[in-house]
Order: sequence, then C-alpha cells, then structure tokens
Amino acid sequence: MPTPDPAPSPHQGLTLLRTIASAVLDLDDLPNPGTFTLPYPEEAQRALDRTVLACLLRGADPPLSVPDLMAWCREWPVVDWPLDVPADLAGPEDRLIDQHAYLPTDLCYEWAVDRPDSATEQIDRALVHAALDRCRAANAPSSYIAFRRLLIERPVLTRDKAAEIALEPAFTPLDGLLNQIYLPAPAGWTRGGHFTSCRRCKTLLVPTRDGGWWCEATRCRRQGDTPVGPEYSGDEGGGVLLLTRPLRLFVTAPGIAELQLERALCHLGLAPELWPNFDAYDLRITLPGGQVWAVDVKDWANPALLGRNAKPLISDPPYDDAFIVVPDHRTTQRRDYVTVVKRYLPQNVKGRLAVLSQRQFTAKVRAVLAEHTGSGSTDEVPEDGDA
Ligand SMILES: [Zn+2]
Repeated sequence: MPTPDPAPSPHQGLTLLRTIASAVLDLDDLPNPGTFTLPYPEEAQRALDRTVLACLLRGADPPLSVPDLMAWCREWPVVDWPLDVPADLAGPEDRLIDQHAYLPTDLCYEWAVDRPDSATEQIDRALVHAALDRCRAANAPSSYIAFRRLLIERPVLTRDKAAEIALEPAFTPLDGLLNQIYLPAPAGWTRGGHFTSCRRCKTLLVPTRDGGWWCEATRCRRQGDTPVGPEYSGDEGGGVLLLTRPLRLFVTAPGIAELQLERALCHLGLAPELWPNFDAYDLRITLPGGQVWAVDVKDWANPALLGRNAKPLISDPPYDDAFIVVPDHRTTQRRDYVTVVKRYLPQNVKGRLAVLSQRQFTAKVRAVLAEHTGSGSTDEVPEDGDA
C-alpha cells in the first residue's frame, strides 16, 4: 500500500524540510554566504521561524540563528532532526549540506523541487526551456541534442573553447545562452593555480583540507577513490568556466545515465533517438518488430521523492510502452530502490509506466531481440529489484 502523505501543515516535517532546503539554496546563491548580514533572505528567515516553532512544539532545543540552522543542515542527518519525516523520504545519512564541501547536497535540491510551483525548479529549468524554445523556433532538433550533449559531456569549458563552440552551426539558435550557463569556475577550487577535473564526471573537483580532492557527485564518491582527471591552469584558454550547479545536478549528472543507456542500446545494434520531439522524453527505441518503447532515465538520490514526482510520459512522438529506467548504481546501493519508487507513484501514473533498473531494462530489450532472431536466449532478469 502507498504511504499516504500526512495532512499539509507548515510545521510538519515534510513541508518544513522543503522550506529549509529552499533556504539552503537561497543562501548558497548569495555571493559571499559567510558574510551575509541581517535581515536574512526571506526564505531563510521563514525556515528558521518554522524550525524554531516545530522544535518548541516538541520540547526540543531550537536553532538560535540562521547560521545555527545551516550548521544543523551540515552536521545532522535529516532523520535525526526533531521533526516528523515520513519513512523512506530520507536515508540514515542524508544531510541537506555536504559535511566536507559545505555545498547543498543532491537530496537538498530534490527536496526543494518536490512541489509543483517550486521557484528553484522554474528558475533553473528556465534556461533549458529557453534553449528548447529557440531550437524549436529554428526547427532544429539536432541543435537541441547537441546542446544537451554538451552540458552532459563538457561541464567544464575554457572561455576560448566556449566561444569556439558557440560559432558551430548547430549552436546558432543558442546564441548568447552559453554565456548565461557557463560561469567562471570558483576561485577557491584551485590548488597551486590549477583546477582539477573528475575523470568520471568531467566536472571540477573541490580541494580538501587534507590535500585530497572531493567530487560533488555522491554517485561518484560511492564508486571509490576520486579519479583525478585533466588539470586546467586558472588562466587556461582565457579562463576556466563551469556549468552552473543546478544544471550540473539536473542535466549533467542524470544525463550521464541517459548517455550510458544510449550506448548500451547502440551496442545491442539499436538506434535509440535521444530527447525526441524536443525532449518529450529521454529515449525512443524502435525494436526490430516495429514496437516502440519510450524511456525516461531517472537518477535520483531518494526513490520515494522520485516516485512522488513521476509523471506520465508525453505521447508525442507515440510509443507502445513507457518506462522509467533507474541507473544500476542506485539499485546496487539500495536493493529495494525500484520497489520504493513504485510504492510512491501517483495514481495517474500507476499501470502506465514500468519502473526498471538499467540492467533489467537492457535484459528486457535483449529478450525481444532474441525472440526476433529466434535464438531463444533471453538472459531475463527478474523485475522485482529485490532479487
Ligand atoms: Zn566524480
């Protein structure tokens, strides 16, 4: 049975966490968050007031100031806060601010967008929508695909390289947009005058106090030691630019899984279309028998939040079956990931979308291919996700 949401109240865990997550992101947007002065940004003050009230109602010691509240976000896993957080909506080590990098976590962004009218989502996606509108107006789907690929494969650019890319014919409809989303890399991320990139994620690493490097992507850190990639000197190619963080989180990071699935399908001899009809969904696959499958790849830290926010796929271009595919690193880390996503799917989505891990999905594709060629070897993987 789905777990029903508690009735909304500003002081209940669910709503309050969203408010606090938005406040963390607002403060992160300030040029010098360490030096902000009274009055606090509106969302931060609201988050503090509501947290204080929630604590007092429960007889717990409240945070005394906004900096105090931010320290809670960094030091305490969300489940240890004196709030009622519904089961599944936060894991035992989930924090809103990363303990080491002092940056909002991916969970913090997921919480902040966990509502239909989220300002954060609107602002950050407005730029992607602007790109979409311009490519559509120019009737240039290949421009949109080139743009998405760039954001996924090249989150770091030098100023010269960005200027060069902007001149490519595919980027003509996107004139001026790259300047808005690729901004000078944070000066504090250099060591000895050099930026260092992550070989796995291609984004920039953050220098740690002990002389090491830290990758902002939780998914990457979980896979072991930080793989150090190419270095950039601070003034290389006119200066180093980094894609803005919300786009790194909402386009680059999940896009890695989208392109991984694309590669796996190409490897099976298929020709998947990426982001068809200007991003109706992520991948459109025509199988040898003529059947068409539509896929959205979703790489969320929290399976319950993913389930709650799932929507039916747009039916243009048309398809026979629709899937949400989750990258394998999520299901490896949490065995019941797929089960939890399914439990939280809204009623209008249940039965219209199958949820599978990438491994399960490619096994399903292989089964269709084997059936078509008559080889009979299906190598089927159970769909339960707990297997
Ligand atoms: Zn990485």
